[in-house]
Amino acid sequence: MTVTRAERLAAQLREREVDVLLVGAPVDVRYLTGFTGSNGLALVAAQEGAGQRFFTDFRYDTQSAEQVPDVFTREIAPIDLVEAAVRGLESRSEGARLGFDDAATTVKQHTRMRELLPAGWELVPCGGLVAGLREVKDPGELQRIRAAAVLADAALREVLEQGVVGRSERDMAIELELRMRRLGAEGPSFPSIVAAGPHSALPHAEPRSVPIPKDTLLTIDWGALFDGYCSDCTRTFATGALGEAEREVYELVRHAQSEAQAAVRAGPSGREIDALARAIIEAAGHGEHFGHGLGHGVGLEVHEPPRLSRTAGEQALRAGNVVTVEPGVYLPGRFGVRIEDLIVVREDGAESLSGLPKELTEVS
Ligand code: ZN
Ligand code: ZN
Repeated sequence: MTVTRAERLAAQLREREVDVLLVGAPVDVRYLTGFTGSNGLALVAAQEGAGQRFFTDFRYDTQSAEQVPDVFTREIAPIDLVEAAVRGLESRSEGARLGFDDAATTVKQHTRMRELLPAGWELVPCGGLVAGLREVKDPGELQRIRAAAVLADAALREVLEQGVVGRSERDMAIELELRMRRLGAEGPSFPSIVAAGPHSALPHAEPRSVPIPKDTLLTIDWGALFDGYCSDCTRTFATGALGEAEREVYELVRHAQSEAQAAVRAGPSGREIDALARAIIEAAGHGEHFGHGLGHGVGLEVHEPPRLSRTAGEQALRAGNVVTVEPGVYLPGRFGVRIEDLIVVREDGAESLSGLPKELTEVS
């Protein structure tokens, strides 16, 4: 599995005429080598059959020996792995190109790399190359994401059964995270959002220590981390009787969500799917209240490419992408509604991994 990933990356490097790629972002290192520690680095060579190198520090000697496959030669280095890796390159009289992740490299690191580069090497920006590979999930990855989603759903069901009204947002968020862990999650995939009433109008509300009232909207956005992979889902509930405006906005968001989700398959771009949901919300006069993108990729990171948004570009969605579809309408000072499903893109459609119903559901 990991061999194939490094080989696929090597093929891309040859296309770009990059000789060696320096991979330092922990999720990218994990993706390529299986190493789950915090300080690892891979040097991936473009040439077919060339040896791949993996660097870590002495704290991870044993762990990396267990996790990193033999295709990588393991080297134990001082803490600064970038420095060790660059110093360790052989000088090349014919010239060579070292790719690096310009999106994750500080100016300071870049300067240091230039100072240390042996003769003949030049630095080539290659940001997003591994993230690009990560966009299409293999069956093992899909299995982990699915397990995370199932587990997160089960945890929320348990928490809702305990009762909602009168309990604080913060207490619910803590309980949710605890239950996800008990059910086998490594933890939440991001800090849970539990937001009632006017607070639900903040897309990224932080749970407060105030009781959840009756007869209002309650937005819960949560996810589990399972074997390195994330889930992400949002449901908005009614804690009793709702006003006309709240019901209308709920049905609008639900309609936009299901129409957009129905259009997801390999072929259209993330921008087109976003536009579809946005047109429905704009037609209802709420365009200005939907200020964020429609969705994002999910995998080792809870927000990763591909994006579904106005600025997403023309790149087609591909089978094996895992993305969210999460339109929202937020009326400042009043209330907000967001509904989010986590879905797998297939050749001819999409499969939702989110199991909780999307019809307006009353919780008490
Ligand atoms: Zn979410
Ligand atoms: Zn999301």
